[in-house]
Amino acid sequence: MFDTHCHLNFQAFDGQVEKVVAEAQKAGITHINIPATDVATSKKAIEVAEKFEHVYASVGIHPHHIFKFQETNSKKQTNFKFLIKDELKEIESLLGHPKVVAVGEVGVDRHYYQRTKYEEYEIDEKFISLQKEVLKKQIQLALQYKKSLIFHNREAKKDFLEVVDSLWSAQLEGRAVFHCCEPDEELLSYALAHKIFIGVDGDVTYSKEKREFVKKIPLESLVFETDSPFLLPEPYRSYPRDKKPINMPSFLSDITEFIAKLRGISKEELARKTTANAIKLFDI
Ligand SMILES: [Zn+2]
Ligand SMILES: [Zn+2]
Repeated sequence: MFDTHCHLNFQAFDGQVEKVVAEAQKAGITHINIPATDVATSKKAIEVAEKFEHVYASVGIHPHHIFKFQETNSKKQTNFKFLIKDELKEIESLLGHPKVVAVGEVGVDRHYYQRTKYEEYEIDEKFISLQKEVLKKQIQLALQYKKSLIFHNREAKKDFLEVVDSLWSAQLEGRAVFHCCEPDEELLSYALAHKIFIGVDGDVTYSKEKREFVKKIPLESLVFETDSPFLLPEPYRSYPRDKKPINMPSFLSDITEFIAKLRGISKEELARKTTANAIKLFDI
């Protein structure tokens, strides 16, 4: 099994990465990809990937974190476009690393996060257009360096598809994923028409909408992810607070088993197929 989206580069895993990877291997997780959200987590993703044979890294700037450039701009009167240029240059400099398989996670995000480190967090059209601009630049980087793409879209389908479509190239067929894809017919048909993989997470174990959606995804378009440390699946999600673990890649085995039952195929076959899909996605 291949966990295509697992943030072993986040603070939640500090000091326990070795243990978490060993547990994942014991549970049958053969490959892991670590996506990044800014320059620091991109570097950390590479640092972790270097330590383990089948652990890979992705580098990029998440749309939510583009907010910091606006914040810096309003407070210090710095030119945020200049700052982003610097940051993107750093991302670009990491793309040559042998463990880097993709640019990600990149996209557009209109979700109001309740917990955010940014003061005066607000989603206005200026912020969204900045997100779209940075997404464009990162798609161009993936094309230039022949890397795969991990797309993050949350509540922003129209803006997101507009940018993706404007830069779409046959080179990206089979090399992109709609990670944690919203259960949406238009996203699904766009993905199928462009040979984009659909990433399914542990929320499928408690969301009826996601369950219905995952039944519609053709097997050849399906990849799995935990999005650890977020999106803890059932049964762990219902554990009492003091016994509740953080989400981790070993739980991909539970997600695979759940979806195998849902689709009426064997766990082994589903594991084999989705792992092969992910290997194709990242061109490993
Ligand atoms: Zn995401
Ligand atoms: Zn993520």
